[in-house]
Amino acid sequence: MNLVLPGPPAIRILTGRVRRYVEQMLPSALDMVRQLVATSSVSSPDARFDQSNRGVIDLVAEWAAELGFVVRVEALPGKAGKANLIATLGEGEDGLVLSGHTDTVPYNAERWTDDPFVVTERDGKLYGLGTADMKGFFSAALHAIARFEAGQLRRPITLLGTADEESTMDGARALAEKGERLGRYAIIGEPTGLRPVRKHKGVFYVQVRVGGKAGHASNPALGVNAIDGLQLVLAALQSWRDTIGQRYRDDDFEVPTPTLNFGRITGGDSPNRICAECALDLDIRLLPGMERPTVVAELRDVVANALRGGPWTFDVQATGAYADAFAGPSDTEFSNTVQTLCGCSAKTALFGTEAPYLAELGLQTLVLGAGDIAVAHQPDEYVTIAAIERATDVYASLIRHFCIETP
Ligand SMILES: [Zn+2]
Repeated sequence: MNLVLPGPPAIRILTGRVRRYVEQMLPSALDMVRQLVATSSVSSPDARFDQSNRGVIDLVAEWAAELGFVVRVEALPGKAGKANLIATLGEGEDGLVLSGHTDTVPYNAERWTDDPFVVTERDGKLYGLGTADMKGFFSAALHAIARFEAGQLRRPITLLGTADEESTMDGARALAEKGERLGRYAIIGEPTGLRPVRKHKGVFYVQVRVGGKAGHASNPALGVNAIDGLQLVLAALQSWRDTIGQRYRDDDFEVPTPTLNFGRITGGDSPNRICAECALDLDIRLLPGMERPTVVAELRDVVANALRGGPWTFDVQATGAYADAFAGPSDTEFSNTVQTLCGCSAKTALFGTEAPYLAELGLQTLVLGAGDIAVAHQPDEYVTIAAIERATDVYASLIRHFCIETP
C-alpha cells in the first residue's frame, strides 16, 4: 500500500509572515528528537525484538508535509509493518537527497542509566536510544530545510527515511531495486562526528560446515571425524587470508587489507563419539572493489581443495545480513564542496551504511552526520545539542549550495 500525502500547496507561495507561522507548527529540534526516540522502532533479524518502523515514518512524514513536501510512504514488499519514506520538496532533476534510517538496534534497558525511550538531557548531551544513530538526523535535516522557502529552490530536496538498516538493509535494497532516480547528490546522516566519510568496508558472514560419520571413539576406522577435516580447512583458510591480504590493499583504511576472522567453531557432542559434523563461522570484511560473490566462490574452492580426496562432505554458505563496501566520490565538485562546508577532509569508516544502494541509483553519496559512532549501539547512547545545531547549519549550507545557488 502506498500512501500519498500532499503537502499544503500554499507553501509554494508563502510570504515570510506565513512561513514563520508554518515553522511555529513544527516542533522544536529537541522536541522532535524526544518524539522520535519515544517512538520505538527496533529492527532485528531476531523476530522477538523486531518492530514496525511505521511510527517514526509517520512522524517524519507529518513534519515534512507541514514543510510542503510531497510525501510517499512505501510499504516494504513482504515485510509487514515496515516502510520507507520518500518526501520531495521542489521540482526538477539533480536535487539533493538527505537520507537516514528510521530503525534502531535492540537495547538492554537494565544497562541504561535512564529510560532509553525518554530523552534525558545532561551536560548538553541528549541521551536516548537512536539519538546519535540516527533519529537526531531527522530533526537536524527538517530544521535545516525549514530555513528556506520552497519557492527559493532551483533544485529539489528529497528526504529519505529507510527501514531495517540495522538488520537487513531491506529498505535501501527496495529503493535500489525500484531504480527510481531520486537526485544527483546524497548525504546519509549517520554519526560521523560531522566529518564526511567517502569510503567504508563491506562485511558479511560465511559458515563452513564439514560433515563426517559418527562412530565409537575407541576405533577411528568406525567413523569419519569432521574435526579432522575442519583442521585442514582452517590451515588452508589461514594461508588464503595471507594471500588476499597481499593481493588487496587500501592504505586509506586503518586496517588496509581485507580481514577474515574465525569467530566461532561448533560441532561434536561427546568425547567418546567420533565427531560427525562441525561448523566454522567467519566474519569477512572486504575493501571497496572486491565482489562478495567472487570472494565466496573463491573461499568455496579453498575449502574444496583442502578436503579433496578425503572422506568428508562440506558446505559453504553466506549467512545473515551483509553490507557491501563503498567508495564514494573523491575530488569531485560535490566532495570538495562538502569538505569545504564542513571545514575538514573526508575520511574512511569501519562501519557499513546504505551508501552502496544509493550509489546504485546514480547518486554521488557521502556519509555525514552528528554524533559519534563509538556511542551508538550501546547503553547511554547520546548526541550533543551542539552537534545537532551544527549539523543543522551544515545541512542548511548544503541545501543553499546545491539547491539554491547552483544554476
Ligand atoms: Zn546507523
